[in-house]
Amino acid sequence: MSTDWDVVVVGAGIAGLTAARACAERDLRVVAHDALAPGGQLINLGALADWPGPPTTGPDLMGALLTDVMDRGVEIAYGEVTGLRADPLTVEAAEGPVTTRAVVVATGRRPGRLDVPGADAWEGRGLSHCATCDGPLHAGREVVVVGDDEWTAREALELAGIAKRVTLVGAAPGWSASSTRRLAEAVEVRTGTVTALEGDGTLGAVRLADGEVLDASGVFVYTHADPRSELLDGLPADAAVWSAGDVTGADRTLLTAAADGLRAGLAVVARLEES
Ligand SMILES: Cc1cc2nc3c(=O)[nH]c(=O)nc-3n(C[C@H](O)[C@H](O)[C@H](O)COP(=O)(O)OP(=O)(O)OC[C@H]3O[C@@H](n4cnc5c(N)ncnc54)[C@H](O)[C@@H]3O)c2cc1C
Repeated sequence: MSTDWDVVVVGAGIAGLTAARACAERDLRVVAHDALAPGGQLINLGALADWPGPPTTGPDLMGALLTDVMDRGVEIAYGEVTGLRADPLTVEAAEGPVTTRAVVVATGRRPGRLDVPGADAWEGRGLSHCATCDGPLHAGREVVVVGDDEWTAREALELAGIAKRVTLVGAAPGWSASSTRRLAEAVEVRTGTVTALEGDGTLGAVRLADGEVLDASGVFVYTHADPRSELLDGLPADAAVWSAGDVTGADRTLLTAAADGLRAGLAVVARLEES
């Protein structure tokens, strides 16, 4: 049966672009859809940690990856994919249904979320998930960072170079000892949770579970960054659909996401060469 594409990749972050590259290099017809812009989380990163090779930034790496996959014939499509159907394999893309022989779902994780009623309403009015993008808006002001992992600690350290005061609030801190040492010099660290965001139009303060209220023009949230895995729900086990990168819930690093994308791409090639 003829299909619109050999491979549809959903999500053009580092995992999706690596999968797309592996397939295109082996002469498959590949399109990569992204709901926002190619690059995914890379767009938000300054200097990269745990990345081998010459020092680079997220946007520079994203630019190089994108140019490379497009040179290899991968088409980039813009818009959210809203569903997958198995028989025949069909992707519900922004421009309508698209048929394909295989799909790689590389949709990453959601931005962080606070377990606080009405918190979403503060998005763009002080609530952020990106120190590189929004940190400069808070130069010389006070900010709160919420999260527990290594990347949260590094975001707090980046903000410490910009804001007047940074308070890092974590329920169960899990960052490295070296980050703990660096944080001790520049950031106030609290164990606890946020119970409310307060302000008049724009954010003014963050209330903690122990009742303390911290003045803050910005709150940077990295907790509850759940995998965006809904597209994988309800598909038959033998569907030609693979997942790769942060959506799998595995390690959150660029290298492991890329390795996962390569693994998925090669699995697609192997399956399509059999059929
Ligand atoms: C604050 C922070 C700092 C970090 N710093 C580092 C670091 O220095 N070094 C390091 O190794 N790792 C770092 N990481 C981890 C790293 O960024 C991620 O592990 C990696 O980017 C995941 O890549 P991905 O391709 O799986 O997902 P993503 O990069 O999240 O890409 C997913 C893409 O899918 C798209 N998408 C989602 N749903 C749909 C849909 N339905 N339809 C179409 N498109 C969709 C999104 O728009 C997005 O572009 C950091 C993470 C965070 C949160």
